[in-house]
Amino acid sequence: MSKTLLIGLDGASFDFLMPWIEEGKLPVFKKILQEGTHGILNSTIPSITCPALPTIYTGMNPGNLGIFSFLNPDGSVVSSSNIPYKSIWHFLSENNKKSLISNLRTTFPPEEINGVMICSLHSIAGKGLGSWENAESHWVYPKELQKELDGWAVDIDSFTENVINKILSGDPQGYQNVKQLEELRASKFKKLLLKADYDFAFHWIEHTDTMNHLCWGNKKLILKFYQEVIEPIMSDYLNTFKDWNILFISDHGAADQVLYDFNINTWLMNNGYLETTWLHKIKLISHILSFAKKHLPYKYIYSKYFNMKKELSTTTKEKAILPNEKNSILGVNWDNTIAYSDLNWGIRINRNKAGDNYEAIREKIISQLKESKSDSGWNIVQNAWKKEDIYSGKYLDQLPDIIVLPQNYIKMTKQIFHNELTQANKSKIGSHFSAINALFMAYGPDIAQHNIIERSNLYDILPTILFMLKQEIPKELDGKVLNKIFAEKSEYFNYQAKYTDETVVRTHQIRDLSDKEEEDMKKMLKSLGYFE
Ligand SMILES: [Zn+2]
Repeated sequence: MSKTLLIGLDGASFDFLMPWIEEGKLPVFKKILQEGTHGILNSTIPSITCPALPTIYTGMNPGNLGIFSFLNPDGSVVSSSNIPYKSIWHFLSENNKKSLISNLRTTFPPEEINGVMICSLHSIAGKGLGSWENAESHWVYPKELQKELDGWAVDIDSFTENVINKILSGDPQGYQNVKQLEELRASKFKKLLLKADYDFAFHWIEHTDTMNHLCWGNKKLILKFYQEVIEPIMSDYLNTFKDWNILFISDHGAADQVLYDFNINTWLMNNGYLETTWLHKIKLISHILSFAKKHLPYKYIYSKYFNMKKELSTTTKEKAILPNEKNSILGVNWDNTIAYSDLNWGIRINRNKAGDNYEAIREKIISQLKESKSDSGWNIVQNAWKKEDIYSGKYLDQLPDIIVLPQNYIKMTKQIFHNELTQANKSKIGSHFSAINALFMAYGPDIAQHNIIERSNLYDILPTILFMLKQEIPKELDGKVLNKIFAEKSEYFNYQAKYTDETVVRTHQIRDLSDKEEEDMKKMLKSLGYFE
């Protein structure tokens, strides 16, 4: 049985890599496509690292995880104590399999596992990140190992100054700094992997995504990063771990900065699903808001003059997984409103008002959304679905009735304006909120050559790894084994998966974040544009 190495390339997608691969600019990718298996994985919606990464390492979809953002509904940052299910390293530790888990976000604080766990930058307390003497900010298990990872952790302020700001201002040193950091981590990971007898290893390369965010307007630099940094790392791993099966995956794709806001509640109003109060009918508020949005720090005005306090959804049985922002949509006559949107990836239907027409209304809105076009004639949304077509699980009740995927350069907003589409606030930072095409590639002794698999899901990765390590697979998992990736000559080709009724719910305790850790993580996420 071969061992399995999983490499994450944050934000990598064939959407932008394939043209480069076909032009011969990325020979290592080309080699893997020719001598291995590849395909597309559906990311989560919204397509952001959290919930995408927890979906990968738990094998559970966000409808079961109850996570849809880097933030919990109460505004705190999602950390490992908020992940309700067992992760890949728990399954393996329980069965005496040794793992090396490296640089995954949302894994802080580090856990005691059979093996080694290195938490990522985004999960590490800020100032003094590199100072492992500070007992509170241990980011490695076992903690003694932290000494060997000199240079791995980066202070958030210095990362912003030396990488983010320098790249944005065109200083070439910014590129050099991020290059050095990923190379250092990749080589330290390799060294650790060679040092002990691991069954499974998972290293996350996070700055592929940083480059997408910062350089989308200058794709040459993104290509250069793949050519000079990523491909040499990949090729080194392929040569060093020849008898391992190596999977390369991403969590989502990449896209340009947001150009337009799609004011979905305005669209619903124009299509007769949402009614406004007399204030909006005289078009006063919408004009003031349009003006404020263009000329003033909009969020500031909004939060200052209107009550934007977040309330938690009031479900009694299960914990609330989404903030209830219904009251922050101004000027709605709720008595006469059939559908509205209180978050930027879905539409809710007022069931009391819709009654028996619920399904018909849902289908009509979906088909109207798919047909809706801008003044210049392009489609506003890529797709729209009934929630149960995308999600399943115990939190399905709390999710919006319709899931909407706008075009990559469009962000949905919930406020009611004069126009359905308005110019977005200028940002230098690219967004991948709707970039659902994540990448999958596999290479190794048991992997089929020149093979393409059908579109699969992020949550299929965990059962596939359990299968490759010949572990029992819990029936409760949302994912399924990607059994089309194996070569005919491989022992896995005819191997029958063994399933178990054992629970996937996490039972052991993980501590919550300290206030300081919480504050620093928010700062990092803000600097990458995840929230304002
Ligand atoms: Zn990501």
